[in-house]
Amino acid sequence: MSAASSETVEAWFAAGARPEVATAIESVHLEIAEAIREVGPLCLASGNCCRFEAHGHRLYASGLEVARCVKICEAEGRGITVADVASSLERGNCPWQDGRLCTARSGRPSGCRVYFCDPRANDVVPMLAERAHERIRAIHDEHDVPYVYGEWRMMLQEVLSGRVDAG
Ligand code: SF4
Repeated sequence: MSAASSETVEAWFAAGARPEVATAIESVHLEIAEAIREVGPLCLASGNCCRFEAHGHRLYASGLEVARCVKICEAEGRGITVADVASSLERGNCPWQDGRLCTARSGRPSGCRVYFCDPRANDVVPMLAERAHERIRAIHDEHDVPYVYGEWRMMLQEVLSGRVDAG
C-alpha cells in the first residue's frame, strides 16, 4: 500500500464527521449485528481474533473506517499514537487489545464485527466480510471519499502519521 497523503487522511477524518456518512457506516454495522444474531456464534472472549499473527487472522479496513475508529477512541479517552501501533506490531496484536478485551468497541471496523472464531460461523464469516467490504467501498464512492483499503495496523500508521490536526 502506498503512503496516503495528508490531504487524503484529512478527507477521511472530515468524511467521518459528516452525519450522513456516520449514519451509513452505522447501518452497515447494524446489518452485520443482525446477520450475526441469526447465526448465533459464541464469543468466549479468548482475544485470539485480535492476536493476528498467532491466530493466523488478518484484519483489513478502509481509510474511512480507520479514521472513524481513531476519532471515536480519542473522544472516549482511548486515543493511540504511532508508537502504540509500532508496539502492537511487535506483539502481533491490535493496539486496542487490553488483555483479552477490545477497548475500541464503539469504533472498531466492520472486519472486527464480522469475525468469529466459533466454527459454526465458518461458512458465514467470509460471506459477511465480503458484503460488508462492498458496502464500505460503496460508502467511499457515494460520498466521494478517497478509497484505500489495507491491513489494520498499516492503515493506522498511515492515518496517525498523515493527519495534520492532531485533535
Ligand atoms: S479493534 Fe478491537 S476487536 Fe478489532 S482487532 Fe482491535 S482489539 Fe480486536
